[in-house]
Amino acid sequence: MPDIDLKEQGEWKEPFYFIQAADPQLGLIKAWAVRDCENGGDEWGQEVTLTQQAVQAVNKLAPRSKFMVLCGDIHAMPGMQWQDEQERDMKGALRGVDPAIPLVFVSGNHNIGNMSTLGTIAQCRCSWGDDYFSFWVGGILFRVLNSQLFFDGSACPDQRDTHEACLTEQLDSAQHRACRHVVVFQHILIILSSTEEDSDYLNLEKTVRLQLLKRFHKAGVKAVFSGHYHRNAGGMHNGPDMVVTSATGCQLGTDPHGLRVVVVTKVIHRYYSLDELSKIGMEKSYWDSCPAPA
Ligand SMILES: [Zn+2]
Repeated sequence: MPDIDLKEQGEWKEPFYFIQAADPQLGLIKAWAVRDCENGGDEWGQEVTLTQQAVQAVNKLAPRSKFMVLCGDIHAMPGMQWQDEQERDMKGALRGVDPAIPLVFVSGNHNIGNMSTLGTIAQCRCSWGDDYFSFWVGGILFRVLNSQLFFDGSACPDQRDTHEACLTEQLDSAQHRACRHVVVFQHILIILSSTEEDSDYLNLEKTVRLQLLKRFHKAGVKAVFSGHYHRNAGGMHNGPDMVVTSATGCQLGTDPHGLRVVVVTKVIHRYYSLDELSKIGMEKSYWDSCPAPA
């Protein structure tokens, strides 16, 4: 959980921005190239370099980002070979983030498994911190969720129920508190393009997704940022803006390796390639030029 003080950060003062990244996922570029995601990810130097490049580009932005959120998938599935080495190398790359920029970690299926267990959650917490929590910055309530418990929490029902109860309490309090926006971070997409689409590996099951969207809408959630798809996608759906951000690591579509800059006035966001990001300035004129969401 980032070291952000509720008292100082609970009130809206002025526009700010943060960085959202997703899926550095060490080893996937090699595994995808040889079409063997079980055994093929034995090299990850390219992803480490991309992560270092992302960190350097973020550190160069001025003024500084308020925080950087990494929406999941660091390494191979829990228990697979190379996990310890990949975790070590990813931590090494992320250690380069400017210490004044809090790093917020969101757990993904490649951190706690498609069907997470008490063991995989405990291991992930030990390595990366809590799998769900809230924090405030500048009058905005940010909620980090463990989307694997929505996807398949059958192996750890107590964790799933506690996660649900905590989310309900937080959304209720958001409705009664004068927060400017509520923003959610999770790894798996709630939907890809339609509330009626079929469910599969990428999105949440239809009943789960509809209930979640209803709760988010009622609580006034402004946007839900996720990764997992390794492509940019998303759109407005009955309230919240569903923002799917492509990977800093392996691309499964045609997007460049990149990151999303999120300007918090109305929660406006734009995806940049790592090369582009190193060339932009974050002065006020940039923020004013950001279009309002459709
Ligand atoms: Zn994923």
